[in-house]
Amino acid sequence: MLHKPSIFIIYTGGTIGMVKDETCGSLKPFDFEHLYSQVPELKKFDYNFGHYSFSPPIDSSDVNPEVWIKLLKIIEKNYDAYDGFVVLHGSDTMAFTASAISFLIEDLSKPVIFTGSQLPVGVIRTDGKENFITAVEIAAAKSGGKPVVPEVGIYFEYKLFRGNRTHKLNAEHFKAFSSVNYPLLAEAGVNIKYNKSAIHKSLNRKTKFHKKLDPNVGILKLFPGISKEFVENILNTKKLKSVILETYGAGNAMTDKWFLEAIEKAIKRNIVVLNVTQCQGGRVNQGRYGASVGLAQMGVIGAYDITTEAALTKLMYLFGNYSDLKLIKELLEKSIRGEMTIR
Ligand code: ASP
Repeated sequence: MLHKPSIFIIYTGGTIGMVKDETCGSLKPFDFEHLYSQVPELKKFDYNFGHYSFSPPIDSSDVNPEVWIKLLKIIEKNYDAYDGFVVLHGSDTMAFTASAISFLIEDLSKPVIFTGSQLPVGVIRTDGKENFITAVEIAAAKSGGKPVVPEVGIYFEYKLFRGNRTHKLNAEHFKAFSSVNYPLLAEAGVNIKYNKSAIHKSLNRKTKFHKKLDPNVGILKLFPGISKEFVENILNTKKLKSVILETYGAGNAMTDKWFLEAIEKAIKRNIVVLNVTQCQGGRVNQGRYGASVGLAQMGVIGAYDITTEAALTKLMYLFGNYSDLKLIKELLEKSIRGEMTIR
């Protein structure tokens, strides 16, 4: 007997299910029944559907580590019973959430596909229907009895990306996401074409769900004219364990003595400093320019071509689940969920 695919849909909120508040005219999250009823096409799939809806659904600006753990637990609870998961989520912080979930699930063997939209499903020109329907199809896709995409992905505007490689790049266009440093996992045209060589292969190990994140991380984005006081205040934040230094180009920073001393002092206090470039494409290469030699010498870790979203959630995951600083630093130099390319 042919197995009917079973897909679990998790509705967290976001534009896809929003409706206009008649009193103030702004978009507000609305319930799952409304959203589901706007996409009757889903009933044409001969699939079993299960669902969970956040109550109340949220704008993704309200996402935080607690929400990520809640989402993780919902996936874990339904993991054995379903073939794949579709997470409906606001696009604003989708890249952070997909990255966080990718780190929290070790040895994922089923698809977890995030999607959302730029226009609500109730609007005639919505992009939400296509995104939702194709995300479901991708979550259900199997080849030789195995899921085609055993990954945390983001599907948006005909493209499937690796979740922890994405960044929201446009607040207006339907093409809202990019993954400059990693190829597409699939593209939907007349057929959905999977880029098999880019898709992670499941290793048939038991899937583990890690349920801790440490929020004591920060981002220090450099800009010309940044003050000593500002830098020191950030580095002296109470309980801070690690900071992403968002640098220029290939990992470059100003060479002022006060700046290098502030970073060095932080490292001596065991704060892990991770060098992530402000550029969308390309990679950190500490030592390529004189402007990053000092950072490398004092122990700043170069994070290759990782996105800020993946770097932040990786730090939260590592500090939440490991206590050995040496091991944390080793894992930061490795790609643990396909989040960076090391060369
Ligand atoms: N503000 C919305 C959200 O992220 C935007 C979207 O869904 O695209 O929840």
